[in-house]
Amino acid sequence: MSDSQFSTRVFSGIKPSGGLTLGNYLGAIKRFVDWQERGTDCIFCVVDLHAITVWQEPSELPGMTREVAAGYLAAGIDPEKSILFNQSQVHEHAELAWIFNCVARVGWMNRMTQFKEKAGKNSEKESLGLYAYPSLMAADILLYHATHVPVGEDQKQHVELTRDIAAKFNHDYGTEFFPLTEPVIDGPATRVMNLRDGSKKMSKSGQSDMERINMTDDADTIAKKFKKARTDPEPLPETMEGLKERPEARNLVDIYASLSDRSSAEVLRDYAGAGWGQFKPALAELAVEKLAPVAEEMRRLMDDPAEIDRTLARGAERARAIAAPILAKTYETVGLIRG
Ligand code: ATP
Ligand code: MG
Repeated sequence: MSDSQFSTRVFSGIKPSGGLTLGNYLGAIKRFVDWQERGTDCIFCVVDLHAITVWQEPSELPGMTREVAAGYLAAGIDPEKSILFNQSQVHEHAELAWIFNCVARVGWMNRMTQFKEKAGKNSEKESLGLYAYPSLMAADILLYHATHVPVGEDQKQHVELTRDIAAKFNHDYGTEFFPLTEPVIDGPATRVMNLRDGSKKMSKSGQSDMERINMTDDADTIAKKFKKARTDPEPLPETMEGLKERPEARNLVDIYASLSDRSSAEVLRDYAGAGWGQFKPALAELAVEKLAPVAEEMRRLMDDPAEIDRTLARGAERARAIAAPILAKTYETVGLIRG
C-alpha cells in the first residue's frame, strides 16, 4: 500500500500530568510551531485521557490541562491555523482505542519500554489503562489519518506500534483505510536528559524539581538548576566525538544548541575548551532569554481560564468534524450496526 493517498497531516499530544518541562518545549512544542509555520495541516492535543493512566487529583487536572494549553499557545500555536483541543472532549478517541485494543496483540504491548519504566517492579498494581496506553495513542493519531507525528525519542516505539496497528487493521479487514504514520524525531534535543542523572530523560512527572527546568521557572531558579546540574570535571571538547561517554555534558550542549537553533557541533566550535563555570551561566542566560517571554505569556493566559476553555471547545468541535466520519467508517468496516 502507498501512503501517498493521504495528504500530509500532523498530530501530536502532551499529557497534563504536571508542569511543562524544557524537554517538552524543545522535544515537542517548539517543533510543533515549526510545522505549523511551514503551513502544514496540524492537530495538537492535550491528552487528558492519557494523564489519568496514573492517578491525577480531580481538583488539579483542569488546571494542568489549561497549563498545557497555555504552553502551546504561548509558544506560538495559533488556534486558528492549527486545531488545539483536549482529548476527552472528542469521545471518538476512546471509541477508536477500543477497536484498536482488539487489533493490537498482548505481545506487542509487552514489548513497550515506557510501561516497563513507568511501572517498575510494581506492574501488577498499575492501571490497565497504563498498559493499553499505546493503543489509545494509535487512536489519537489514526482518528485523523495523520501522516506525521513529531515526538521526542521516547515516543518512537509507540508511533511504530501505531504503524503496526494500522497495518494489521488494514490487512485483517482487507482495506487501505489507515495510513502508516511516520514518527518525526529531529533536531538536537530529541531526548533532553534529567539534570541530575544523565541516563534518564527529563520528565514532568519526575520525582525531584531539581532534575528538570520547568517552562514557568524564574531566572534565579533556572540559573540554580543549571549550576547544580551534574557534569564531569572536563572542559568542553572541540568535536562531537569528544562528547561520547559524557551524557551530562552532551545534554547541556544539546540544550544550548536547540535553544539557539544551531547544531551541537556549532556550539562546540564556540565553546571548545570552556569550563562549566563559563558554559553553565551562558546556558542559563540563553534559557531565560528564550523561556521568560513564553512563561510570561503562559501566566497571562492562565489568568483567564474561561478563555482557554473556549479555545479548547472550539478546537474540539473542529477535531470532531474530522474524527466522526473516520470513526463511522471504521465501525462500518468492522461490521458494527449504526442506526
Ligand atoms: P510524563 O512524565 O508524565 O510522561 P513527559 O515529560 O514525558 O511527562 P509527555 O506528555 O509524556 O511528557 O510527552 C509529551 C511530548 O514531549 C512527547 O512528544 C515526548 O516525546 C516529548 N518529551 C517528553 N520528555 C522529553 C524529553 N526529555 N526530551 C525530548 N522530548 C520529550
Ligand atoms: Mg512521557
